[in-house]
Amino acid sequence: MTATGPRNTLAARMRDVSRRLSRRFGSPHRSPHLTEPIRNLILTILSQNTTDANRDRAYASLAKRFPTLPLLAAAPPEDVEEAIRVGGLARAKAKAIISALSRIRREKGGYTLDFLSEMPLAEAREYLTSFTGVGVKTANVVLLFSFGKEAFPVDTHILRVTKRLGLVPAPADLSRAALLLEPHVSPGESMPFHLNLIRLGREICRPRNPMCPECPLLPVCPEGKQRVRKQGAGMPIAGPR
Ligand code: SF4
Repeated sequence: MTATGPRNTLAARMRDVSRRLSRRFGSPHRSPHLTEPIRNLILTILSQNTTDANRDRAYASLAKRFPTLPLLAAAPPEDVEEAIRVGGLARAKAKAIISALSRIRREKGGYTLDFLSEMPLAEAREYLTSFTGVGVKTANVVLLFSFGKEAFPVDTHILRVTKRLGLVPAPADLSRAALLLEPHVSPGESMPFHLNLIRLGREICRPRNPMCPECPLLPVCPEGKQRVRKQGAGMPIAGPR
């Protein structure tokens, strides 16, 4: 096999990265509380630009104030905004949640996204991203965790790690990276690969001072090898954050 042969295709490199992560972290799966599609959509909208802890606080506050979806859909935007303020970007998120619920009710006659299960992945993603405030990442989270589709959500951790690995080009944003990587993820690997990349980004491949010598991906990471070489030579290090 040559240097340009199948062993070096993007799919093969991602399979290798996924295996190395599984050997270190196991093969994780997300907890079942995320599986109900509309609640997952709301939770994922709330997760934009905030921490998991603040997302969960905002969701708990919202669920307490509006215990049912009809109550939430009919609520004044400023009341929803107040309920989710702890998660940040409250005005935009309140608008996104109410307008999504209203449109789903209007188009489907009830608060359900179950019809997405029958749609091909690209079509289902196109439907979800046609909502205000729902981008590729949010749509992919819903499609992966609620419908088990082979969608590959890319968050800021995954974007940073995959850039350092040279799997996506430096200028790529979250959406472009997701659409570029997704076709090359091995079947059935989307969830554990996604969760393990996030864990690596949080614990080892941190924005500043990544712990390359302890990283299971060092043997296949150009950025990591360069950092280790420079550290050994006492040189300053720069690279994707
Ligand atoms: S080797 Fe370093 S830069 Fe590469 S993925 Fe691991 S921690 Fe990140």
